Amino acid sequence: MILNELWEKFLKLVSSEVGHQVVDTWLKSVVLLKVENNKDLYFSVPNQFVNAWIKKNYIHLFKEHFPALLENANPELNFEFKVTANLSSSSDSTSIALSAKDATIQPEVCKKQKPIKTNRVLVRTQAPLKKKSLLSEKYSFKNFVVGPHNHLAYSAAQAVSKSCNKRYNPLFIYGKTGLGKTHLLHCIGNEFQQSNPDSNLIYKSSASFVNEFILAIRQGKSQSFTDRYKKIDLLLIDDIQFFAQKEQTQEAFFHIFNQMYDEKKQIVLTSDTMPQQLSGFSERLVSRFSWGLSTDITVPTLETRTAILLKKAEDLKIELSLDVANYIASNIITNVRELEGALTKLAAMTMLTFKPISLEMAQKELRYNSNAATKITTIESRPDFIVNLVLKHFRVTMEELKSKKRNADIVIARQFAAYLLKKHTNSSLRMIGYYLGGQTHSTILHGISKIKSEQTEDPFLKKVENILS
Ligand code: ADP
Ligand code: MG
Repeated sequence: MILNELWEKFLKLVSSEVGHQVVDTWLKSVVLLKVENNKDLYFSVPNQFVNAWIKKNYIHLFKEHFPALLENANPELNFEFKVTANLSSSSDSTSIALSAKDATIQPEVCKKQKPIKTNRVLVRTQAPLKKKSLLSEKYSFKNFVVGPHNHLAYSAAQAVSKSCNKRYNPLFIYGKTGLGKTHLLHCIGNEFQQSNPDSNLIYKSSASFVNEFILAIRQGKSQSFTDRYKKIDLLLIDDIQFFAQKEQTQEAFFHIFNQMYDEKKQIVLTSDTMPQQLSGFSERLVSRFSWGLSTDITVPTLETRTAILLKKAEDLKIELSLDVANYIASNIITNVRELEGALTKLAAMTMLTFKPISLEMAQKELRYNSNAATKITTIESRPDFIVNLVLKHFRVTMEELKSKKRNADIVIARQFAAYLLKKHTNSSLRMIGYYLGGQTHSTILHGISKIKSEQTEDPFLKKVENILS
């Protein structure tokens, strides 16, 4: 395969996993220079900043996908990155692919500006049979921020990574893109591997599962492909929705699933929708997906989004004030990956200018339209949108809304919020309870029926419904 083609295939694959923002910012400026002996892959990167960032954050994607993309790949692939200034293909990458003069900057140096000594990074992968290396260590339970939007998924993930009784088998985690599914899957793998060093696990994105399966068919080795999966203790498959319409893959997976399930081996799957809404899947597979526990991850609340930003900044060793975190979190509502993108942009800025991140810098660099947040009324962002409207209208604060206070105006605000959340979002009563500060199921139900019976003609309600319909 031509190098360019190979690289483009890789970019396309990872784009669906980590998002086009990551690809545009970090990977588009990389050039695949040559492949030797189906084993050594040489890449050119525009500067040390990109070099270090890829090595730290995205090398697991290289390890995962190239064995399947490269025909007759050697079981032990090496990835070598060389910093080369003035790469022609870097022109369309975004501003973070800094110019060659910044080549001594690396992401970790925000506080201690130390240049990297070597400009060559050699990364060895394990043989593909030992899939443990495909897990990214940067995803751990420790750096996963828990909030009402993900707490069930988090608890279940912790349970399956520790327990042997397979109560949740399979564990099926679903939710929209950029909300932490892949992160959780890696957490499970990392934790499981630590507690069971002698066990075997496989982590795979469904795209690379499909690619490897196709390769195995072409090589007449489909039986050994499925046999390999039958020898493992934990199987983690990311973005299972990509199996849609792929009948032969589904058939192979069905057998792997059955065997693992019968032998009480843990299976964890992620998807962008709940099992029952997967289209292009055989019924028997969908029904198996629902045998264990299905749990969703929804959009984080403002507080959790802020906490995630502060945690990410801490991990990156970047100083971020609460003000700035709040500013970003109020403007990016539906996607944690985009929150991270904004932070990365500011990180690059602060490294370039040696100035701390200020609110002015954030406003200038990120340039959010101040009305944008209130204009977003997609289903994912509606809970925040609705709650904000209620707060404004009833002149109560978030703390009051979430409190146990029984003042008439607060109670009515809570009832309106519960009613609107039930009617205009896909949140369950449990989630609505969380949005409203941990109110009980019966309080929520009572609030909803009170509004339904007494207030349906309320002008505020009409106004909100007009906006949302
Ligand atoms: P998904 O697989 O659902 O599309 P990812 O797991 O790739 O999303 O998450 C996108 C980015 O957001 C990742 O870098 C991840 O670390 C981060 N992220 C998402 N949720 C959280 C969270 N609760 N705590 C910390 N980081 C998170
Ligand atoms: Mg993902």
